Amino acid sequence: MRTPIGKDFPGHYSSDEEWHGYINNNDRVLLKTINYSSPKSAGAECIDPNCTWVEQWVHRAGPREKIYYKPEEVKAAIVTCGGLCPGLNDVIRQIVITLEIYGVKKIVGIPFGYRGFSDQELTEVPLSRKVVQNIHLSGGSLLGVSRGGPGVSDIVDSLEERGINMLFVLGGNGTHAGANAIHNECCKRRLKVSVIGVPKTIDNDILLMDKTFGFDTAVEEAQRAINSAYIEAHSAYHGIGVVKLMGRSSGFIAMQASLSSGQVDVCLIPEVPFNLHGPHGVLRHLQHLLEMKGSAVICVAEGAGQNLLQNTNAKDASGNVVFGDIGVYIQQETKKYFKEIGVHADVKYIDPTYMIRACRANASDGILCTVLGQNAVHGAFAGYSGISVGLCNTHYAYFPIPEVISHPRLVDPNSRMWHRCLTSTGQPDFI
Ligand code: ATP
Ligand code: MG
Repeated sequence: MRTPIGKDFPGHYSSDEEWHGYINNNDRVLLKTINYSSPKSAGAECIDPNCTWVEQWVHRAGPREKIYYKPEEVKAAIVTCGGLCPGLNDVIRQIVITLEIYGVKKIVGIPFGYRGFSDQELTEVPLSRKVVQNIHLSGGSLLGVSRGGPGVSDIVDSLEERGINMLFVLGGNGTHAGANAIHNECCKRRLKVSVIGVPKTIDNDILLMDKTFGFDTAVEEAQRAINSAYIEAHSAYHGIGVVKLMGRSSGFIAMQASLSSGQVDVCLIPEVPFNLHGPHGVLRHLQHLLEMKGSAVICVAEGAGQNLLQNTNAKDASGNVVFGDIGVYIQQETKKYFKEIGVHADVKYIDPTYMIRACRANASDGILCTVLGQNAVHGAFAGYSGISVGLCNTHYAYFPIPEVISHPRLVDPNSRMWHRCLTSTGQPDFI
C-alpha cells in the first residue's frame, strides 16, 4: 500500500490499491509558497481558492498507469541551453535510458542549445543507451550549450519539420522562458508536443524547489577554492584571500560554501547590501582581522555589490546583463586601502567559476539528476506540457513553468541560515 501524500488534507489521497509503482493522478505535493499567481495553470490546483493563506499543490511526479503517447509514434529531442552546470550529462543520459525503457526508438539531441534548431550546419545527434552510457563520467554537456539563438516561431517550425513530439529542455530561467513560449506556440498551432523543462541552475535560485542539480557539487568544489585562498592568505604576511563564487541574484552558493568551509571571515551576497569604505565598511573590518589574526578570507557572490561598480549596460547573446567583476574590484580597492593607510597587505584573488561549472556531478547530484531525468520522461508520457520537474518538500513534482521562473529564489537575510552564516564568519553588518 502506498503512503498517501497530503494525508492531512482529505480528498487528495493516493489509492489504497496494491503497490504497483504507478503514481495516481490525484497524488499531490504541497507547495510551501503562499503567493501563487495563477493556481489554475498547468498542473497546479488550489484546494480552497477563497482561502487567503493559500495552500497549493502540484502533481506528484512519476510513472502513470495510462500513458498519452504510443512509444512507437514518439520522436523525442533533448536540448541543453545557457551555461554549463554539473549534472547535465547525467540528466541527458537518464532521459535517454528511460525513453528507451518506454520503447521509444527515435531519440535525438539538438546541438548547442536552441541555436541547433536553426543553424543549418548543425545536425541532430542520434541518441541511444549505447551513446550515453558513460557520459555522466565527465562534466559539460554531450550536446553542447549556447546562449541566444532563433525565435520561438522558428523553433516550433523546426519541431514540426523534424516531427518531434517530445522536447526535453535543460536550462535555467531563460531556457525555461523559451520552453514555455514553445509550449504556448505548440498549443496555438494545435500541435501535440510535450515540452518538459529540467531546471539547470547551479545558483539554486528556482522558486519552490528544495534544490536544483549542480548546486551540491558547486558547494563542494567551492570549498577547494576557499581552502586554497585560506592557505595562501594564512601563509603570507598579512594575507587576504578573495574568492568569487557563482550567484547572480542569489547567494546560496557563497553562503553554503562559507558555512561548510569554516574558513571564511566575510561572506558577501547580492541580497545583503554592504559598503566597502567607511567606518563600518568591509575594508575597515579587514584591517581589524589582520590586526587580530594576521589574515582574512572573503567569499563574494558574483552578483553582490553591483551597485558599487560602474554599469556598462553590456548584455550577453541571451539579453542578460553582463555583471562587473566584484572580485577584481574588491581586490583592487583592498590593495589601495592598505597602501593608503601604510599597512602591508598581500591580496590574492581566486575565481573558480569555470572550474566548478565544468565538474562532473557528485554523488548526491548524480542521484538528483537521475530521478529528474526519469520523471521528465514520465511527465511527457503522462501527457503534460509546459512543466518543469523538481524536488519540493522532499517530493518530486511537476511545476507549471511560469510559476517557477516568475522571479529568482533569494536568500532571506532574516533567515536562520543567513544568521548561522554570520555567526560562523563573525562578520558585522557592513552598512
Ligand atoms: P543560465 O542559468 O546558465 O544563465 P539560462 O537558461 O538562463 O541559463 P540564457 O542564456 O539566459 O540561459 O537563455 C538560454 C536560452 O534561452 C537562449 O538560447 C535564449 O535565447 C533563450 N531565452 C532566454 N530568455 C528567453 C525568453 N524570455 N523567451 C524565449 N527564449 C529565451
Ligand atoms: Mg539565466
